Amino acid sequence: MPTAAASRSNSRSPSYVTTAIPYVNDVPHVGFALEMVQADALARFYRLSGNDVRFLAGTDENSLKNVHAAELAGIPVAALVERNAARFRALRESLELSFDDFIRTSTDARHRPGAERLWTACVESGDIYKRAYHGLYCTGCEQFYKPDELDDGRCPEHDTVPDEIDEENWFFRLSKYGDRLSEIYAHGEVEIVPASRRNEVLAWIKSGLEDFSISRSAARARGWAFPFPATRSK
Ligand SMILES: [Zn+2]
Repeated sequence: MPTAAASRSNSRSPSYVTTAIPYVNDVPHVGFALEMVQADALARFYRLSGNDVRFLAGTDENSLKNVHAAELAGIPVAALVERNAARFRALRESLELSFDDFIRTSTDARHRPGAERLWTACVESGDIYKRAYHGLYCTGCEQFYKPDELDDGRCPEHDTVPDEIDEENWFFRLSKYGDRLSEIYAHGEVEIVPASRRNEVLAWIKSGLEDFSISRSAARARGWAFPFPATRSK
């Protein structure tokens, strides 16, 4: 099952292919290599079909996982992500990948302005708000869990006990988009393939979408990553 995302409105149109961006707390594993090869096959297929393809890859470097890995290794976070991102980028040679571009989120000059534009658009549409939050956070997953999502109080992915976190966070108002998203997917405005995955997504939306945290405290992140625009002057 390809995990790459691609958009294509009709044949001979521009096609965009991208992958998930991996955390670079360690060297690449074979699961990620598979995803890259699948995305590459898709990009090559579109090119052979005569489309103008843009295939983008990159690395997610602004994560707590990277901070913790650097602490364990006893080196600065910037040095750790530099070293490991190079290993991910080098897959281009060893796997003969054909991506056109590779964006590192901590150093690429395009990333921060892009993220800030998205932030501003969300603020203007009233989709971002701040509230005090208490939750159970798994660093491995980089996400909060509700108690009923845990197995005996442990992360179902990592089998570790999540940290109890109390902090003020920014939230994205995903809850308001349930109906809109259902419509878009149900009417094929955005196509999800295979159909079994579309049904999964639709069922997930129907079960009720919740707002989610899109920030973490600078203290918890040891000052790594970018401050949110609205908080920069504080
Ligand atoms: Zn986890």
